[in-house]
Amino acid sequence: MKITEVKVHLVQSWRKTDHIASPWIFVQVYTDEGVVGLGDATNWPGGTIIKQAIDELGKLIIGEDPFNIELLYHRMYHALQQIGQTGVVIAAISGIEIALWDIVGKTSGQPIYNLIGGVCRDKIRFYSHASTPEECGRLAEKGVTAIKAYFPAAIPDNGEHITTPRSITILEEKQALEHMMRCREVVGDAVDIATDVGCRYSSSAAIRLGNRLEEVGLLFYEEPVSPENIEALARVTASVNVPVCVGERQYTRFGFRDMIASQAVDMIMPDVVRTGGIMESKKIASMAESYYMQVSPHNPNNAVSTVASLHLMANIPNALVLEYVDDEQDAPWRNDLLTDPPLVDNGYLRLPEKPGLGTELVMDVVNKYRFEG
Ligand SMILES: [Mg+2]
Repeated sequence: MKITEVKVHLVQSWRKTDHIASPWIFVQVYTDEGVVGLGDATNWPGGTIIKQAIDELGKLIIGEDPFNIELLYHRMYHALQQIGQTGVVIAAISGIEIALWDIVGKTSGQPIYNLIGGVCRDKIRFYSHASTPEECGRLAEKGVTAIKAYFPAAIPDNGEHITTPRSITILEEKQALEHMMRCREVVGDAVDIATDVGCRYSSSAAIRLGNRLEEVGLLFYEEPVSPENIEALARVTASVNVPVCVGERQYTRFGFRDMIASQAVDMIMPDVVRTGGIMESKKIASMAESYYMQVSPHNPNNAVSTVASLHLMANIPNALVLEYVDDEQDAPWRNDLLTDPPLVDNGYLRLPEKPGLGTELVMDVVNKYRFEG
């Protein structure tokens, strides 16, 4: 079997910034035997620059056997390594890598999780997002077992230009605790609550806030500080009595290595469309496992990356909970784009059962919402 073509489809999503469009990025890898693999390189922000990287990297794999995923990953990685050890290039590689697994699965007649070691679980726990205690209550009523709750101080909306690291006032700190405790009261102790402060704080503010939130009983405290300085992050993690989860800004096993080995975090959140794909995410999860860390993948972007994440989460022994966005919290055509979108069943996500990823693009919907730039 030989790869014949790599196509990219950009589709409108709700996500955008003032200047950078962020459409969903679907990847299709075609073969000479008629098998077409589906992948996802959606990231935020930046759709069109990732498309350009996929177009360039795609040229490197034409004529090759799609089963040689390890070799093709290395070819793509090393072709642009000097300018692409993180970011746009790795997002592009991730999209192609997922499509290669889809081809191998379809050709073998097996779901991807059966090609990487089978399943450790047959349903996947997920968490949803909420900004208010009322939203937390609605999610709990729907059977959601874990919620990432944001508090207002973490998302300033006063028009101020946001610079980091920020301080936090005593008032903001108290308001954050009150807000999170109201969320806790609404859902009770049977639902897990995490929170995310998106790298906004100084080390000292992040430590104060983390310890203030201890009584909420957090599942995790996400990105208390920015991860570029692992030693500073480690100091924050060692100074708070809540589990720190970081990793949505890390790319490849090399991006996670020091963070894990220095135990600068309590758990990691790799994103299958940022790490380099499914196999790279499994390697990262294995590194984390050797430090007794669990994995809670970052996954806010697209329904295809959600499906790819389900295969990973089914397989890795140290899976905790998967970030999940449904079409009530996103563009309404999110799930219409797929023949078999992710399915929630009794508070958990079902495992795909068909060969490969187990889903296909619905091209009529892709064409209807095609992103034209
Ligand atoms: Mg986050």
